[in-house]
Amino acid sequence: MPTQAEFAIQLLQWHKDVDRRLPWKEDKNPYKTWLSEIIMQQTRVAQGTPYYLKFVEAYPTITDLADAPEADVMKLWQGLGYYSRARNLHHAAKTIRDEFNGQFPTEYDDILSLKGVGKYTAAAIVSFAYGQEYAVVDGNVIRVLSRYLGITDAVDHSATQKLINQKATQLIKGSDPAKYNQAIMDFGATYCTPKSPDCTQCVFSEMCRAHNNGLVAEIPYKAKKIKKRTRYFHYLIIHDNNGNIIIRHRQEKDIWQSLFDYPCIEMETEDQLNKDSLEKYLSLTFGHKIREVKYPTKKYKHILTHQTLFGQFYHVEVDEITDISTPFLRVEKSDVESYALPVLLTNYLKDEEELTLFD
Ligand code: SF4
Repeated sequence: MPTQAEFAIQLLQWHKDVDRRLPWKEDKNPYKTWLSEIIMQQTRVAQGTPYYLKFVEAYPTITDLADAPEADVMKLWQGLGYYSRARNLHHAAKTIRDEFNGQFPTEYDDILSLKGVGKYTAAAIVSFAYGQEYAVVDGNVIRVLSRYLGITDAVDHSATQKLINQKATQLIKGSDPAKYNQAIMDFGATYCTPKSPDCTQCVFSEMCRAHNNGLVAEIPYKAKKIKKRTRYFHYLIIHDNNGNIIIRHRQEKDIWQSLFDYPCIEMETEDQLNKDSLEKYLSLTFGHKIREVKYPTKKYKHILTHQTLFGQFYHVEVDEITDISTPFLRVEKSDVESYALPVLLTNYLKDEEELTLFD
């Protein structure tokens, strides 16, 4: 087994040839580092980069972000998913404005106390922006270290996580923290990948315990299997003769909190929504009588980490939309796209535009 220093030297040597130039690496601004880290969580760099650039342009400073209305922040985030990140980002910006005089904190514990910032993000910010010796431990780092060190215990157990954190803290010692952290994450993301890494060409092949013991496919081992939930959303596009439509502000603690969608009947099974249920829902929720219901559309599928969603859209004509109260809003149908909408709805709206269904 090479020493800690040798591990870091080999890693940094490998990274020299593959380091990517990314906009948020250009300066050591903690606000921009934080913004990029939150945006890039569970997001590919190619998808997240345009969002990072839009945010920096709209909100050049943390105070600009803190002062913005939440609806504007959510709208800018539209399409990126995991919307709690946007709400937490806005909340943390207000905390920094109000409790840290608008100055991004420099201490790890203060950064960790911000909403939406976990140990990984706090370590990334202090190492990238301030050069402090904190090791990042994300899924990529867990995979690299558990394979390299031959850790066969379940990585979703807290004792194993503690061990990996200790090893990560030892291995970063004496290196440039920003370069080391970037290198190990990039190594996990691009080389020591979950499936079929090219171990024979790897800089660590001689020393990697998982490779030498034929355990690469088994490590990292997880005890719990994630159970996916399937949900069926029947969206009602309720519109009247005056060009109005009903939308809903999602406020419950569920997916897409703070975003807007249409009134929805959710079902646990694939069954079609029958006319009786639809009429009952409309009269109980809005007191409206249906004039006409047009088709359900094709099924739109959207996959989240723990959920698979299917959405169908029903066009419901009523004479006049009245008596709308929270969480519903009556808006002009041409204004719908100015609200922050989940991807399932924007995908549907793209098709609707092509089919000009309301004409
Ligand atoms: S030898 Fe294979 S499993 Fe080990 S660190 Fe290299 S790529 Fe990962």
